[in-house]
Amino acid sequence: MSQASFRVPTPVNEPVLSYAPGSPERAELKQTLERMVAERLDIPLVIAGEAVRTGRLAEARMPHDHRHMLATYHQAEAPQVQAAIAAALAAKPAWEALPFADRAGVLLRAADLLATRYRPILNASTMLGQSKTAHQAEIDAACELIDFFRFNVTFAEHLLAEQPNNAPQVSNSFDYRALDGFVYAVTPFNFTSIAGNLPTAPALMGNTVVFKPSPSAMPSAWYIMELLREAGLPPGVINMVQGDPAMITAQVLAHPDLGGVHFTGSTAVFKSIWRMVGENMPHYHQYPRLVGETGGKDFIFAHASAGDDLEALAVGIVRGAFEYQGQKCSAAARAFIPKSVWPKLCERLVALTGEIKMGDVRDFRNFMGAVIHENAFKKISGYLDYARSAPGVKLLAGGKADGRRGWFIEPTVIQSDNPKDRLMCEEIFGPVITLHVYPDSAYEDTLRLCDQSTPYALTGSIFARDRKAIATASRLLRHAAGNFYINDKPTGAVVGQQPFGGSRASGTNDKAGSFLNLVRWTSPRTIKENFTPPIRVGYPYQGAE
Ligand code: NAD
Repeated sequence: MSQASFRVPTPVNEPVLSYAPGSPERAELKQTLERMVAERLDIPLVIAGEAVRTGRLAEARMPHDHRHMLATYHQAEAPQVQAAIAAALAAKPAWEALPFADRAGVLLRAADLLATRYRPILNASTMLGQSKTAHQAEIDAACELIDFFRFNVTFAEHLLAEQPNNAPQVSNSFDYRALDGFVYAVTPFNFTSIAGNLPTAPALMGNTVVFKPSPSAMPSAWYIMELLREAGLPPGVINMVQGDPAMITAQVLAHPDLGGVHFTGSTAVFKSIWRMVGENMPHYHQYPRLVGETGGKDFIFAHASAGDDLEALAVGIVRGAFEYQGQKCSAAARAFIPKSVWPKLCERLVALTGEIKMGDVRDFRNFMGAVIHENAFKKISGYLDYARSAPGVKLLAGGKADGRRGWFIEPTVIQSDNPKDRLMCEEIFGPVITLHVYPDSAYEDTLRLCDQSTPYALTGSIFARDRKAIATASRLLRHAAGNFYINDKPTGAVVGQQPFGGSRASGTNDKAGSFLNLVRWTSPRTIKENFTPPIRVGYPYQGAE
């Protein structure tokens, strides 16, 4: 074994490629898209490094052209779930015992593969399977996942260097062990980077993982597994089991060796996982760690002085609300606008929204694709129907849905007189923003309303030129968002720059892309070595009465 001290390369955020006409990356991506559309993947389960085909098939289709099947995937039943848990437990001793440099080496190699050969593969599968534009795929499937791999290695290195004090003749240390048991990683459809990060962050800390990807993001999940295999991840360290989420989760959470859950998805599902873990408590050999990043109703709040920079506010709202069809957990979904700013802003919002091009993401002129699946389409359409008839609610732009070819919902701007209307409070998770116009004189009261009117606290923005107004908003909204933006849209967190996560109903706020997240995947052992152990039982004070 090497006796060298290992120094991790200093990470920098992966540069975002432009995909502008004539660029080499555009040509390569277009070719890969064509190739992937022409083939039909057959995605197996991955257990102990083996492809497992159960024959219980489900389909992955393109959201923007749902006649087209991209892949079939094999679904797990109970025996495969148990086999995946057994594989994770079997792989654990050797993986945990590997020196940190070797575990880190897998992720660093994965980052380099993804920055090069796998970049068009992961981008194209994310575009086709999740309906992201080239830019949205690039910032997610390529850049953010590369950043997660590289930055997590650096954060882990710093964590390992965090050691307790010594004393004369005594040496103390933290041994950063993996958790007892295995970790269950459950990922959402909307970020390929999250699908890559949730299983690998615990693995970096020595854990082994059962990974349940989203049924709505299977092609990109498969290529993540391929990428990790090629990067040298040993068999059994991350085992992929897809299929009925409720069945798989019930099997996994009932296992006595469940060591932790790394979840991102909706609030309702995470609450059900938490409840099940509580019910299974008597059977566990340890207390499972529960990390969940969940829903949001993210806000943009404008002060009257934002009227001086109207275009920045309008662009922040449009980009924040409509990029990736509003399906980012951080997407702007409600806004509070002062009356003095409203007439001009309304005009700009309607104009900018009207210019947005929506369609097949293979046509690079489009700014938006389709929403993920029929259920999302129906749910969002239901909110649009409601908006058309609800009292005090006005549809200002968009509002139409067309599911004939793909699950397309127009970017939609709604005004609501009632700040507590369901459009202002419930997570819709689509390209829909609802704005409430407030009297300029009610700034502080409306900030309090913004803080209290939803159960969530994920992201939010204040737009203002007036510094005092910014300070007031920062104070009154302190607990309203885990990621708070000043004069910027509430989306687009960058690993290493804006560690991500929210509290209240938005999650456990363990900040993906920071050392705080990695802390959850280690169970340190404190070691004391005494160089001069005492050789007498009694103490000096006993020498005389
Ligand atoms: P989802 O809750 O439907 O699914 C998330 C995962 O949970 C998937 O793997 C799914 O198969 C699984 N799942 C679904 N039902 C389950 C059940 N009954 N038991 C166990 N597992 C189950 O969420 P989604 O539609 O994939 O993603 C969108 C949601 O995720 C939104 O609410 C969004 O706000 C949230 N999200 C949050 C963050 C964050 O960092 N806070 C990031 C991304 C997405």
